[in-house]
Amino acid sequence: MTKLLPTTSAGSLPKPSWLAEPEKLWSPWQLADEALAEGKRDALLLALAEQRGAGIDIVSDGEQTRQHFVTTFIENLNGVDFENRKVVHIRERYDASVPVVVDEVTRKGPVFVQDARELRAHTEATIKWALPGPMTMVDTLYDDYYGSREKLAWKFAEILNEEAKELAEAGVDIIQFDEPAFNVFFDEVKAWGVQALERAAEGLNCQTAVHVCYGYGIEANTEWKKTLGEEWRQYEEIFPQIQNSSIDIVSLEAHNSHVPMDLIELVRGKKLMVGAIDVASHTVETPAEVADTLRKALKYVDPENLWASTNCGMAPLPRDLARAKLGALSAGAQIVRDELSF
Ligand SMILES: [Zn+2]
Repeated sequence: MTKLLPTTSAGSLPKPSWLAEPEKLWSPWQLADEALAEGKRDALLLALAEQRGAGIDIVSDGEQTRQHFVTTFIENLNGVDFENRKVVHIRERYDASVPVVVDEVTRKGPVFVQDARELRAHTEATIKWALPGPMTMVDTLYDDYYGSREKLAWKFAEILNEEAKELAEAGVDIIQFDEPAFNVFFDEVKAWGVQALERAAEGLNCQTAVHVCYGYGIEANTEWKKTLGEEWRQYEEIFPQIQNSSIDIVSLEAHNSHVPMDLIELVRGKKLMVGAIDVASHTVETPAEVADTLRKALKYVDPENLWASTNCGMAPLPRDLARAKLGALSAGAQIVRDELSF
């Protein structure tokens, strides 16, 4: 990537209303069987067109073929019971009814590889593909078999590595692991979290990223954020480990967030996807606001390592709003790009 300040979305994009009910997480599909398969494929290509139309440089599938960033992956594994669910307290924040690990977990087969081929066939742009991280997967399940979060995480890391290798082979340029759980379980991050993440990324012939955020703009997250105080210093706990890891890129929150910008100094040398778009607000950022966030980041990151991104995924937002936010991201990045080239 030679272009300065390339733009990208950190995660999901809203789905068309004919595919899934809008503005909802875990939104049920509106289609079934073959019509659903075709609808997902169409939505993937629309998401690509919308990103390119908004001037986004590094594109994704917009997660159009998945109901949820973690559970859809888990649905494609053996050893997990989706019928007899149990309630767990996800990331110490909210209760959710989740599937139960009842046997050894293995991958039934490729999960997103066909989708990745589809996207690759339709664009020359750099492609980034998101997968859940091992720790976040562990935290979205009830384990009745391994008896240890760490053991289960290592198992998931192996499975994720199989999928990631096949995605890279299908033409994906960057594999991003989503680890919002890293912002909550610091002791586990230090003990095994980053190592499990590195295992998931082992031997990949593409770039790797880790996305650590404060979550979608849903109520449970908004309430949790109120308890975090004036300054959000969670990154301070985990960045030193990430800095020493094999992961190439770090995706983080910045705009409208209470994260002190100087914390990104802790991962100097890595490429940074700095969130300049707030996904928890229905106000569209101005290009000037985006530029302002990027300029602040440039005090602590070299220009060639700075990518302009959203804070998190935008799946729960209205579609036109998400599109406008992507447009603002591009326009804001262009302002700073122009400044840097003088
Ligand atoms: Zn996120």
